[in-house]
Amino acid sequence: MFKYTKITASVGPKSENLAILTKMVRAGANMFRINFSHDTGAVQGKKIDAIRRVARELKSPVGIIVDLQGPKHRIGNFATEDKYKLTVGQRFVFDTDETPGDGTRVCLPHPDVIASMRPGNRILLNDGKIEMRVDSVQPTKIIATVVRGNEIWSRRGFNLPDTFVDTNILTDKDKSDLEYAITKNPDFVAVSFVQSATDIEYVRDFITERTSHKIKIIAKIERPHAVHDIDNIVSVSDGIMIARGDLAVEMPFEQVPAISRHIIRTCRQMNKPVIMATQMLGSMVDNEFPTRAEISDVANAAYLRADACMTSEETTIGINPVHTVETMSRILSYADMDTIANPYDWSRIDNIPENNWSRSVASMAHLNNASAIIVFDRDGVATTQISCRRPDMPIIAVCNDETVANQLCLSRGVYPIFDPEIFGHRDEKMAAQILKIKLGSVVIVDDGTISLRDLD
Ligand code: PEP
Repeated sequence: MFKYTKITASVGPKSENLAILTKMVRAGANMFRINFSHDTGAVQGKKIDAIRRVARELKSPVGIIVDLQGPKHRIGNFATEDKYKLTVGQRFVFDTDETPGDGTRVCLPHPDVIASMRPGNRILLNDGKIEMRVDSVQPTKIIATVVRGNEIWSRRGFNLPDTFVDTNILTDKDKSDLEYAITKNPDFVAVSFVQSATDIEYVRDFITERTSHKIKIIAKIERPHAVHDIDNIVSVSDGIMIARGDLAVEMPFEQVPAISRHIIRTCRQMNKPVIMATQMLGSMVDNEFPTRAEISDVANAAYLRADACMTSEETTIGINPVHTVETMSRILSYADMDTIANPYDWSRIDNIPENNWSRSVASMAHLNNASAIIVFDRDGVATTQISCRRPDMPIIAVCNDETVANQLCLSRGVYPIFDPEIFGHRDEKMAAQILKIKLGSVVIVDDGTISLRDLD
């Protein structure tokens, strides 16, 4: 059974050793995410080295995403470990004074945030459990009123859904993490709390000034400003992550499924891969079995034809990361095969002109009942575009560049092979055999030419 929807597994204390990583790849992980919000520098570098080693030993391309923490805002510390109860109607002050807080004030160590806020703006604390409205802003403090009360304690997250924060997308920590990560040649860098296309352009310049290695950039969509500027952001990014965790704090949560659907469609139209992220199998942090709702959530990502699903804590601190990946694989494979057995008319929803070349490839393969599309691809562009048409057969991408093969691990339905010899000999039969594709008609794409061949 083929699995078309890819799995991006986050790596953490429970999954960073070679044996577990190997089992996770065997269970269906195509990409790994290294989250620089936790740990930094050489500690993360070791994980990258371990993944590269596993990929070499398994002779299988595996993609690596370095995920930068970004300008995530947190309040400072309180005087005690206690939780402070904030009640509706009470005043609360955020200031730049580093003295530990109490029930009436706390430090907000982000002067750029204070400068960006306006009276009437909302503040969400502790994943939205507390809501406040800003009454007034002074150069070093925000005075707000509690609208939804709850308990607060040190270092809770501070979200500001209405405010465009005039800040650099890369914090000092991100810059030093990225400087280090670049030395390890990751395949992707994921940028957190993107607000506009300019943020992505800034990160691209930062990277290209330091390396000629072709690192792809994934924009994490978790702020309302990013949702509103989605077309421009998708157009300048190499891929998108729907970061539903923060997105469901900053946007009304009932809108998140509709936003996700819209983003997937936009990405397909613009030929960019898209990852559905966060809490996909969240209960498996502590349990051996997913909930019914999680099973449906993962399957629905496949039915929406996202490129990939992501695991977070399930595979970083969960009780059984390998079993989590196996579970996700089972759900995705079944949904992918069901999508193919019971297809809808993809041409109607694709909104891609009929004379588009990648659409011609997909429809040629479809009309001829081809068992695969085989692409000899130097840079991954052709394969990515064909993948975005979501053809109902595997796409075998034969690459002579290892990074391109790793990057294609993210694209739906693509089975990348890194083999300069097969690439050099244009040996489509060998490529099909590696993937154990049943022989018969295949569509071959090579340097702009499209042909139909019988492999007997
Ligand atoms: C999210 O908020 O959904 C997310 C993926 O971000 P992170 O895990 O990096 O906080």
